[in-house]
Amino acid sequence: MSIQHPPTTQGRFGDYGGRFAPETLMPALLELEAAFNSAWADPGFHAELDALLADYVGRPTPVFRASRLSERHGIDLWFKREDLAHTGAHKVNNTIGQALLAQRMGKPRIIAETGAGQHGVATATACALLGLECVVYMGAKDVERQALNVYRMQLMGAEVVSVEKGAATLKDAVSEAMRDWVATVENTHYIIGSVVGPHPFPLIVRELQKVIGEELQRQLDGSAGKPKPDVIVACVGGGSNSMGIFHPYRGSGVDLVGVEAAGHGIASGAHGASLVAGSPGVLHGSRTYMLQDEQGQVVEAHSISAGLDYPGVGPEHSLYRDEGLARYVAITDDDALAALKVMSATEGIIPALESAHGLAWILANAAELKGKTVVLNLSGRGDKDVQQIAKFGG
Ligand SMILES: *Cc1c(COP(=O)(O)O)cnc(C)c1O
Repeated sequence: MSIQHPPTTQGRFGDYGGRFAPETLMPALLELEAAFNSAWADPGFHAELDALLADYVGRPTPVFRASRLSERHGIDLWFKREDLAHTGAHKVNNTIGQALLAQRMGKPRIIAETGAGQHGVATATACALLGLECVVYMGAKDVERQALNVYRMQLMGAEVVSVEKGAATLKDAVSEAMRDWVATVENTHYIIGSVVGPHPFPLIVRELQKVIGEELQRQLDGSAGKPKPDVIVACVGGGSNSMGIFHPYRGSGVDLVGVEAAGHGIASGAHGASLVAGSPGVLHGSRTYMLQDEQGQVVEAHSISAGLDYPGVGPEHSLYRDEGLARYVAITDDDALAALKVMSATEGIIPALESAHGLAWILANAAELKGKTVVLNLSGRGDKDVQQIAKFGG
């Protein structure tokens, strides 16, 4: 399968991306790049992946017309239902693909790191499916806060390592996972959960998630009474569900809108809006927009939704931002929570808090969107968030 809009051989997307990693990891990154290129060119690999996406994940996910919201706002509004994928979100598209790749490379052991646990659960799922050993690093604070996801991972046979160092959150879990990988690259693959990290991860994750946008092209193709999208809206944490739905539409004239977390408001400083309010720097192995202070120290992100609570973003989004290939906006915690309630009560779908940011932007801009066909990438279901909503949202 040919790759559209590949990065340079150095893994650059314009001024962004690259491979900022310790020398000791270079051989592993080069090996991974070669293995991916060979697998992606192999119809046998695609046949295996496509069969699992169909029978195990449940793809293609439907596209659903939200009739009541459409009528209320005068918008032709559709949801791309990633919430109906196995495990309840898009993340599994990536973890299954990378686990298959690890198997092909002859690596029987998988490591991952996770904050809220969603990527850990998706990784444990893929490892159980393929019979791979799975170790998930998690900050001790997150282990405590996300007990249910920890138990899910353990049920599926993963070992969860609680990291007590530093602030005992995601940053420290990433450091421990890196340390593990440096020592174990011979038999271990590190599954990164979004379009972030050093080359070739942003490319691999994009290629594995672009199935979302490719399905949408077939589902809303302008034929048989089906419209074509005018606007596609997706939330942006690391940027994988958004890049997955945007990529096939790049340069097509469709208005692509990425919605970041404004948290308590951009002015408060407590947010996760790297593209809207950050600046370029190097984070987790690539050059990209990120949240940093004047000294270049990473600033903690904040969002009500764990998936958007990240101080960086995939490097290709940084290129999209600068080139105007997509536009990026931000939505506060309160507006996302309100939109979650609207979707639940109006369409009978409780969305993930992450995805609710997208609907909140649509509702806030309904006047501008009147008469247009708007597709929201419904990245995940909200079951995981219900307890938190009950606590904060009344
Ligand atoms: C993890 C997650 C996100 C954010 O990650 P991206 O890489 O930006 O897609 C968004 N929605 C849901 C439901 C998630 O679980």
